[in-house]
Amino acid sequence: EAHIDRLQKMEEDLNAFITISKEEALNAADIIDEKIKKGEKLGPLAGIPIGVKDNIITKDIKTTCGSKMLENFIPPYESTVVEKIKKADGIILGKTNMDEFAMGSSTETSYFGITKNPIDTQRVPGGSSGGSAAAVRAKEVAIALGSDTGGSIRQPASFCGVVGLKPTYGLVSRYGLVSLANSLDQIGTLGRNVTDVALLLNAIVGYDEKDSTSVNMDIIDYIEGLSEDVKGMRIGVPKEYLNLNMDERVKEQILNSIEIFKNMGAVVEEISLPHIEYALATYYIISTAEISSNMARFDGIRYGYRAKDYETLDELYINSRSEAFGEEVKRRIMFGTYSLSKDNNEKIYKKAAKVRTIIKEDFDKIFEDYDIILSPTSPSLPFRIGERIEEPLAMYKSDIFTVPINLTGICAISIPCGYVEGLPVGLQIIGDKFEELKVLRLARAFE
Ligand code: GLN
Repeated sequence: EAHIDRLQKMEEDLNAFITISKEEALNAADIIDEKIKKGEKLGPLAGIPIGVKDNIITKDIKTTCGSKMLENFIPPYESTVVEKIKKADGIILGKTNMDEFAMGSSTETSYFGITKNPIDTQRVPGGSSGGSAAAVRAKEVAIALGSDTGGSIRQPASFCGVVGLKPTYGLVSRYGLVSLANSLDQIGTLGRNVTDVALLLNAIVGYDEKDSTSVNMDIIDYIEGLSEDVKGMRIGVPKEYLNLNMDERVKEQILNSIEIFKNMGAVVEEISLPHIEYALATYYIISTAEISSNMARFDGIRYGYRAKDYETLDELYINSRSEAFGEEVKRRIMFGTYSLSKDNNEKIYKKAAKVRTIIKEDFDKIFEDYDIILSPTSPSLPFRIGERIEEPLAMYKSDIFTVPINLTGICAISIPCGYVEGLPVGLQIIGDKFEELKVLRLARAFE
């Protein structure tokens, strides 16, 4: 109760939550009390306050995706990750704010208002999981779930000075995650330190027959072995990244971090990812193609918003979608429809799919010789509210370092590596597929 009272007070300023599920949280706490009284064994997340991004389905609790389209949508079933959190005795305090349908890098496109960065409330918390990152930073919750299609966990983690992990595609079940771009989406974890992020990861991983892309493999304990030595680890720094146009102050912090890894006994060398310059364009073609297809289900009939005025069926579709989707959602539907159309399919979409494979081969080659790749998480410091919202391309550029990880399905974490004039800089530690433990270990050693 005390925790929720505090959360509610902080919310007056931050708006990190769309829904606070007080009653459900207190019920969950009562169940734990009962277990303690009976002397039953408690789960690994017992009593820990957790936030869940509002594109992850919660049974009987509103799940809006930050959109007017789903303003009143109460799901009749549970996502696999939430089911697992409940089984581990975690306490979900509510649903966190996000860019509409997870399209964005600033949490400014939410129908439910902007979330502010707790470090400087004039600035954005990043996005699209900005609510989760802000809630963790402001201690409204201890840990949170986010989703990451092109950087939506790592970039807000960077902007709010917290830790955020995008696991390997297939490690965590996507059952109950409202799809943005199915071949890129992944649920991941945010926390104030690496151990907290690993603790939540432990609770949500594992094969799920309800997600055909979830991988059936032995479960690894991400806490055990976390503190092992990183001496001799081989780290590559892509030269293409350091030559890129970015905030010099960010670059300086990254170069300082590289020195710290060298002092720990890691071997750091310059590497090359020759096709990385095409990653951002490739991402926005592939993701919008998948988005335009996914958004078709919001037709005003099966669920979600339905327009009041219409005469024909076509008008029902058109009016419902026109009234309930925001600008950015519409832009992406049009962009995706364009690149999938008969004349452009071969020229744009299929070409992007081929480039995606070439980028993946670049990474595969590096991981034959290196354990880890380092980069900044974001090319800039947290920007001001309103600064980029009118300029979609400037917003898309926020994702330049994060999208290659989703295109290739590998894993990466963002950790705070320094501050510039009070604003945090995030370092991205990238590992090959299913090398989360390696990534977490290096991140832990840095802390
Ligand atoms: N900012 C990126 C986009 O707008 C990433 C979104 C995400 O990861 N959900 O597409």
